[in-house]
Amino acid sequence: EQAPVITIDGPSGAGKGTICQLLANKLGWHLLDSGAIYRVLALAAIHHDVELDNEEALSLLAAHLDVQFQAGEDGVKVVLEGEEVSKAIRSQECADAASKVAALPRVREALLRRQRAFRDHPGLIADGRDMGTVVFPSAQAKIFLTASAEERAERRYAQLKEKGYDVSIDRLLGEIRERDERDSNRAVAPLKPAEDALEIDTTGMGIDQVLDAVLSHVVTSL
Ligand code: C5P
Repeated sequence: EQAPVITIDGPSGAGKGTICQLLANKLGWHLLDSGAIYRVLALAAIHHDVELDNEEALSLLAAHLDVQFQAGEDGVKVVLEGEEVSKAIRSQECADAASKVAALPRVREALLRRQRAFRDHPGLIADGRDMGTVVFPSAQAKIFLTASAEERAERRYAQLKEKGYDVSIDRLLGEIRERDERDSNRAVAPLKPAEDALEIDTTGMGIDQVLDAVLSHVVTSL
C-alpha cells in the first residue's frame, strides 16, 4: 500500500518550510522540499549557462539532474553534482531563477516522477505550490498556508537578518509580490489551493499556533 502524504502548499514566506520540518520531526515522516528541487535546477542551469527560458534544454537538465537530498540533524543537505549547495540555493537570484524555470510545463513534467519518489513509509510531508493539486492529488490531508505579503516580507526579513544578511524590507516585499504574481498566473500548476485543502491564514499567528491548527486538521484526516 502507498504511504500516506500530507501536502502543505502556499506562497513563499507563509511558513511552510518551518511547519513542514516540525511536522516531519514530530511524526517521523519523510520531507519533500519541492521548492529546493526547482532552486537546484535553476542553479544547475546557471552553472551550465542554460538560458532560463530554454524549455527544451531545461527539461533535459531536469530529467538528468544529479542531486541528492541528505536528511540530517539540522535540516536537509542539498548536493548538486557532488557539491554542497544548501546555502547557495537560498539566494534571491536562485529563488527568482527557480520561479522562471518552474513556469515551463515540460520542466514540471520532467520533475514529477522525482518528486513522487519521495513518497515512502511511514509517510511524507510535501512542501510546495502544487503538492495537493498536481503532484499528490490523492494526499490524505491537504493544507494551504497563506499570510499577508507584508507579514511574509517581515518574516523573511527577520530570517535573513538572523543569518547575517543585510536586506531591505521594501525590496523583499517587492520580490515576494513579483514571485507570487508569476507563480499564481502561470498556465501550468499555478499556485492555488486544492479544492479539498484546508486554508489557514497565518497572518498574526505564531509558529506554535500554526502547528496546532495544522496538527488538528491532520489528525482528523488520517
Ligand atoms: O518554496 P521556494 O521558495 O523554495 O520555491 C522556489 C520557487 O520554485 C517558487 O517561487 C516557485 O516558482 C517554484 N516552485 C514551484 N512548485 C513547487 C515548489 C516551488 O513552482 N511545488
